Amino acid sequence: MPVVGSRQSDEDSFASRLQTPDSKPVFILPRLLIMAREQFADLNHFAERDTRHVAERVIVIGSGPAGWSAAIYASRANLNPLLFEGTPHAEMIPLGQLAFTTEVENYAGFPAGNIRAFVESAVDPDRHYNLPPAPAGHERNGQPHYAVQGVELVELMKQQAINFGTRVAGEDVVDVDVEARPFKVTTGEGRVVEAHSIIVATGARANYLGLPSEETFKNRGVSACAVCDGALPRFRNKPLVVVGGGDSAVEEACYLTKFASKVYVVHRRDQLRASKIMQQRLLENPKAEVVWSHVPVNIVGNDKDGVTGVDLQSTVDQSAKHLPASGVFFSIGHTPNTAFLKGKLETNEKGYIRWTRPFRTYTSVEGIFAAGDVADDHYRQAITSAGTGCMAALDAERWLAEQGL
Ligand code: NAP
Repeated sequence: MPVVGSRQSDEDSFASRLQTPDSKPVFILPRLLIMAREQFADLNHFAERDTRHVAERVIVIGSGPAGWSAAIYASRANLNPLLFEGTPHAEMIPLGQLAFTTEVENYAGFPAGNIRAFVESAVDPDRHYNLPPAPAGHERNGQPHYAVQGVELVELMKQQAINFGTRVAGEDVVDVDVEARPFKVTTGEGRVVEAHSIIVATGARANYLGLPSEETFKNRGVSACAVCDGALPRFRNKPLVVVGGGDSAVEEACYLTKFASKVYVVHRRDQLRASKIMQQRLLENPKAEVVWSHVPVNIVGNDKDGVTGVDLQSTVDQSAKHLPASGVFFSIGHTPNTAFLKGKLETNEKGYIRWTRPFRTYTSVEGIFAAGDVADDHYRQAITSAGTGCMAALDAERWLAEQGL
C-alpha cells in the first residue's frame, strides 16, 4: 500500500527549502518549480522523500460536532488538520448522528429564526444540495422561523473548519497502526496516511431493532433521541411509545410526558433495568404506562401522517397487541463506533474509549485523543461532544508541542 503524507505538507516542506536569504518564501510557478527541482537535485530528492514520509501533525477521524470542533481548534492552532469524514452507511453517515435529527432546539446559540437564510449565506453553495428543506409551516412575518436542523448545524461546523484550513477526506478509516509513531491510518481505499497525533471522534450509533418499518419511518415518527425530537409538533398531545427498560428509556419517557397525551414504555421483561428512583418516577407519572413483556414487531404508518401505531408481540406467550402512537422512541442502548480500532485503545465495560486522565481527552495510547460520544456513554449531547472536541484539539496541540512536533 502506498504511504502518503499531506500534499500541503509536502509543498510547504519543499517551499521551506527554497527560502530567499531574508527568509521570505519564493513564489514559484509550476514550470519554475519543475526547473528548480531539476536544477537542485538535492532539493528534489528531499521533496520526493517528503512525498512519501511527511506525517500529518493531527488527523481527526469523525465528522460530527466533536470532529468539526476539534478541527476548528486544530486549524486555528496552525496544525493543518486532515479530517476523515467517512462514507455513507446504513447506520452512520458523514456528519454523524445529528444528520438523522430534524430540529435541534437545545444547541446554545441557535434560537429559532430564519436559519435557512443564515445557513445559505455561510455554507459554500456547492454543498447547498445537502441541506434538507426548511420545515413547512414554521413561519413568522412571512419568513421561515424554525430551530436549526441537524444537517444544517453540522454543515455550519464543517464550513467553519474548512474556512480555517481543515482538509476533508471523504473516506472511511478502517485501521490504525498504533504500534509505532508516527501512527499509520489506513482508509477503505487502501491509502495509508501517517500522523503524529490522532483525535478519534467517530461517535456512537443508537441501537435499533432492525425492523424494516423502522427505516421507513425514521424522521417521520421513529427516533432514538427524545431530547432531540420529543418537542416537535408531530408528537404534541399524541400517544407515544418508548422501547426499552433502562435509565435512558425511563428518562426519555418522563421527558416525553411533558408533550405527549400518553407515553407507553414497552419493555421486553417484567422488570425494569432502570435505577429504583427512576422507576419510581416513571410508575408515579400519571401520563406513563409500562407495557410489560412485549417487543415491537412492526411500526405502522402512512406517507401522510408518518407513524400511527405499533404492533407488539408478547415475549411470554403468543399474544399480540396494537398501540396507537404517533411516535416510537428506541432507547435500547448505543454502540460506539470503534470497530476500526480493533481493541487497540482501552475501553470501558460498555466499549466506549476510556479517558485515562480526569477531565482530559488522553487515551491509553500516547498521542491518541478521544472526543464526543465515542468516549461518552453518559451525556451524549451535540453540545457536550463539541466541547470535548475542543478539549481534544487543545490536548493534542499541547502534547505535540511537548514532543517538539
Ligand atoms: P441500558 O442500561 O443498557 O438499557 C437498555 C435497555 O434496552 C434495557 O432495558 C434492555 O432490556 C433493553 N434492550 C436492549 N436490547 C433490546 C432489544 N433488542 N429489544 C428490546 N429491548 C432491548 O442502556 P441505557 O438505558 O441507555 O443506559 C446506559 C447507561 O447510562 C446506564 O449505565 C445508565 O444507568 C446510564 N444512564 C443514566 C441516567 C441517569 O442516571 N439519569 C440516564 C440515562 C442513562 P433488558 O433490561 O431486558 O436487558
